[in-house]
Amino acid sequence: MEILPEIHQVDGVQGNCFLLDREGLVLIDTGLPRNNKKILSCIRDTLKKDPKDLKYIIITHYHVDHTGNAAELRDITGAKVAIHEADADYLGGKMPMPPLQGLRGRILNILLFFWSAKPVNPDILLHDGDSICGLQCIHTPGHTPGSICLHDPALQVVFCGDAFLTKNGIVSGPPLSATPNMAEANTSAKKISHLDFDILLSGHGIPVRPHASEQVAGFCRTLD
Ligand SMILES: [Zn+2]
Ligand SMILES: [Zn+2]
Repeated sequence: MEILPEIHQVDGVQGNCFLLDREGLVLIDTGLPRNNKKILSCIRDTLKKDPKDLKYIIITHYHVDHTGNAAELRDITGAKVAIHEADADYLGGKMPMPPLQGLRGRILNILLFFWSAKPVNPDILLHDGDSICGLQCIHTPGHTPGSICLHDPALQVVFCGDAFLTKNGIVSGPPLSATPNMAEANTSAKKISHLDFDILLSGHGIPVRPHASEQVAGFCRTLD
């Protein structure tokens, strides 16, 4: 699905992932495991590019529905994998994911057993304020310690991973069962509400547009 001429969402992958057409291709998140063929076919058939044109894979946080195909895609394309340094050891398999909370969390804990992704040692460690491929990295911890949002000031887009969900186009916070520090997540949400952007692209849900920053600010007002 085309979001803008420069941004495509890969269809049919759970855990939304987005391809940006820059000087090389940039993939933001990779979806649940066993979806790498869908991503490669989007590169070849929709964007008419070669998988080797993929230069960067930027991961918004370490959860498996965002990292599931990073190892295979890096092997196939040679792209560099980037993640915030606070999530790097989870991605690299050096730190175990803490168990999810609540009834929904307990069910997901069982599913996660079957969804494990191959560990990846990242090539690039991101920090708050870094710039990568024309995107500003904003550290938005809470959902995970190293959750990030990526702001494209030129295109007026924010990629938020799970810092916000956008089910049915309605902005909400991250899922309670998978967010160990909701107070921190709320503080992070307010950080994003100070930006000016038109489109919000979440890891789950549909694009929020236009005037997305107003909807984020509206959601943040409900947190007070
Ligand atoms: Zn997540
Ligand atoms: Zn997710």
